[in-house]
Formats: sequence, C-alpha cells, structure tokens
Amino acid sequence: MNKIGKQAIVIGASMGGLLAARVLADHYGQVTVLERDHFPAAGENRKGVPQGRHAHGLLAQGLRIMEGFFPGLTQDLVQQGARQGDIIGNSYWYQNGGFHAQFDSGLVGLLLSRPLLEGYIRQRLFALPNVHALPGVKVEGLLSENGRVTGVRLDADSLGELQADLVVDASGRGSQAPKWLEAVGFERPQEEMVKVDLAYATRIYRRRSQDFGGKDAFIIGSNAPEPRGGVALYIEGDRWIVSLAGFLGDHPPTDERGFLEFARSLPVSDLYDLIKEAQPLSDILAYKFPGSQRRRYERLNRFPEGLLVTGDAICSFNPVFGQGMTVAAAEAEALSECLSVGLPNLAGRFFKRASSLVDSPWGIAVGADLRYPQVEGPRSPMVNFINWYVAKLHVAARRDPAVVLAFQKVANLMAPPPSILSPGIALRVLWGNLFIRRVAQTRSSRQLQRAG
Ligand SMILES: Cc1cc2nc3c(=O)[nH]c(=O)nc-3n(C[C@H](O)[C@H](O)[C@H](O)COP(=O)(O)OP(=O)(O)OC[C@H]3O[C@@H](n4cnc5c(N)ncnc54)[C@H](O)[C@@H]3O)c2cc1C
Repeated sequence: MNKIGKQAIVIGASMGGLLAARVLADHYGQVTVLERDHFPAAGENRKGVPQGRHAHGLLAQGLRIMEGFFPGLTQDLVQQGARQGDIIGNSYWYQNGGFHAQFDSGLVGLLLSRPLLEGYIRQRLFALPNVHALPGVKVEGLLSENGRVTGVRLDADSLGELQADLVVDASGRGSQAPKWLEAVGFERPQEEMVKVDLAYATRIYRRRSQDFGGKDAFIIGSNAPEPRGGVALYIEGDRWIVSLAGFLGDHPPTDERGFLEFARSLPVSDLYDLIKEAQPLSDILAYKFPGSQRRRYERLNRFPEGLLVTGDAICSFNPVFGQGMTVAAAEAEALSECLSVGLPNLAGRFFKRASSLVDSPWGIAVGADLRYPQVEGPRSPMVNFINWYVAKLHVAARRDPAVVLAFQKVANLMAPPPSILSPGIALRVLWGNLFIRRVAQTRSSRQLQRAG
C-alpha cells in the first residue's frame, strides 16, 4: 500500500491505541506507540489499565473487527485458553425478572481475561516491521507549528521531543488532549458527563465443570430501581472472573463477607451459589466509575491538522454494557477508511464517523442509566418510551428467540438500536407481554379456584 506519511505516533498502548496503530501501519512508514507503563508479560495486568482486572466481555462486533486486523486471533487465543462460544446459547442472561431464552444464534463471542487479549494484540502489533513501542514514556504536550501538530513533548525522564506527521491520542478517559489543544491555540471540546457513581468489585475463582450446567457466562443485569447486578465470565486457566456492580453509591464491598452478602442480595442466587462454594484465586479488587463521559470533538469549528483522538479519550461508557473495546475497534476501522481517502480534512471526517459510531452505544448506556430517577440528565419522551419498551422486550425475551436475537444484535453493536422497534419485533414484544399476563392470570385464577 502507498504510504501517505512517514511517521505516526500513538499515545497509549491499550486497546484503543493498539488498534489505531495497527491501522496506521498500513498508511505510514513508521508507527511509534508511546506508553507510560512498562509492558508486563502477556496475560498480566498493568498499572495504566486498572480496569483490566475486572470482567471484560468482547462483543461479537469487536471480535469480528479484531479478527480482521489480526487474522487467526480467535484460533490463537482459543489455543491459549480463551473460550469461543455462542453469545446467546452459551450464557444465562437474567434481566427484569426473568431469563432470556437460550438458543444457538450464530452470534459468536470470545471469553478471556482483558490482559490476555491486550497482551496478544500487543505481541502481534509489535511484530509488524514498521511498528515500534516506546514503553515507560509519558507524553506531556503537543508540538505545533503554524496551527499544525508536528509531534509530542515527553516527560523530563524521557527523550525530550518526537516529531510526527500524525499524532493519535489514545490515552484513555483521563486524556489531556483538551488541555493540550488549548496550549497550542485551539478550543477545548464540549464535554458531557452522566454521573452514575458505579463501582465494581471483582474476584477470580477456580471453575468446576458442573458450574452453570457447563455454560460459560452468567449475567444478572441491573433493573431500575434496583441498583445491583453481577457477572461471572469464563476466563483462561479454567477460571471464573466474577464482577459485582452497584450504581448510585450502592457499591459492592471488598471484604469476603460483604462480597458474598452483596451476591446473595441479587435477584437470583446463582452467582452467590457459585462463589460461596468455589475456590477463590485472587483478592477482591474494587474499581470506581463516576460516570459516562463524552468529548464532542466533532463539534469544534477549528482543529489542528496532524492530530486525532480515539477510544475512551473520546467517549468512556458505563462499562456494564461491555462496549468500550468494541467501539475502539470500530473507530480504528473508521480511521482506516478515512485514511484510504487521503489526508484532506482527516480530523473533520474521522470525528464525524467516530461520533456516529459512539451515538448508538452512548444512547444504550446513558438511556439505561436514565431509568434511575437519581441520575441527572435530560429525559426526552423518546428516552422514557425506549426504557418502557425495553423493559417489555425483556419480558418477551423469556420465550421468544427472535426478540432475544434482535436485542443481542443491538447490544453487540451489530444492528442499530431502532431495529428493536421494527414492526415484526414490536408485535412479538406485545404478544410476549400479553402471553405472560394471560399465564399469570390463569395461574392466579387456578389458585383462587383451589383456595375456594
Ligand atoms: C470496570 C470496567 C469494565 C469494563 N468492561 C468492559 C467490557 O466488558 N468490554 C469492553 O469492551 N470494554 C470494557 N471496558 C472499557 C474498556 O476497558 C476501554 O474502553 C478500553 O480499554 C479502550 O480504552 P482506551 O485504549 O481508549 O483507553 P485505556 O484503556 O484507558 O488506555 C489508555 C492507555 O494510555 C496510557 N496513557 C495515558 N496517559 C498517557 C500519557 N500521557 N503518555 C503515555 N501513555 C499514556 C495508559 O497507561 C493506558 O495504557 C470497561 C471499563 C471499565 C472501567
């Protein structure tokens, strides 16, 4: 492929940065990835990605894109202990008072720990001849000339300055790009924040073959006004990673007893039954997530050439929907398409694409957060209607595979959210709710007859 530039720099070697670098390697002579951490062995956690110690599901869309970037990824990771399986047929999903129907849907996901996935992608990326890693290097600002970003300024202990034709900031939620932009004469993007005061507590356990009847995932979705949920996901080494989550300050404790009690308080006892018996293999670790955050780069009138921002640095979602890595992958795919058209107005085109990619998962995450009256944010009639409708959809999903599939395609970012409102699905949702009501009425009238 003809290269459109000599040198690209990526700030941050987590999922957003690694996937962006993979794309840049097709378009630039050299790609240098700067990371403030030193890299651990593949599969081990590191300080700069504290969320990596908590359950990370990879959605079907994310897996599809990553496999495209690194052919053979799924097979290699399965050989290293990851589990490939049907997202619907191989998991229990409890939501709004019932379990979704289980069946083989063709939506295939991969279960593994976050460090194994990141470590594998890191190895594959840095094996490319024109990609180099500079670990242990912190970026502190941008270099600019005549309104164009020309490189980065490094911390005092590092190499001073590095020049580049393109700098991609993938430094995560705490990205300093807004501040750096101001320092080189541009405006900060508007920032939106929807506070949820969420916390995770996570522990790893030895898996036993009989757990959950041999299925690989158990998900208890939170259901407003109840602020609690939890998951157990299979990870390599025949282990479970169990993350309990609580919104609005109702945080899961990190002491053994409190953790168990929190699991016991969930609407079904399966996670509690698992962890009260299973052998723990780690401490209980906490992670606090104040709220979903979105930076509106696409709305800026002026933006310097030579700079892009990607991944959580643009938008970090409430993690209970497991969307962040998939959105980072979709943004890398969009970057590839934007670069193949050339450099003119690259930032304008990329941020527009990224914004439309973010709209759907942002709508899913924030829309669901707004079910809780305590969460601040505008509730349009549409948001209220969707939340009412999705609650009904979960009821119909207990019996109707077509409804489950429609929901999971949206949740896995493989179909747009309006698809769950299509006439075919809406009728099934209506029918499913009428049916459940009829069953409930028949049951209670039988009980009345018996009592009489
Ligand atoms: C608790 C939790 C659970 C989650 N669960 C899921 C899930 O199930 N599925 C899913 O898809 N996503 C999940 N996510 C989201 C996912 O972790 C992120 O979306 C994903 O890591 C992509 O982020 P990123 O690469 O943009 O940023 P990050 O992962 O935050 O990485 C930023 C990187 O930049 C480096 N860095 C920062 N500043 C500098 C600097 N100045 N110089 C050099 N390097 C720097 C950091 O060390 C780090 O390596 C979860 C998030 C949380 C918080």
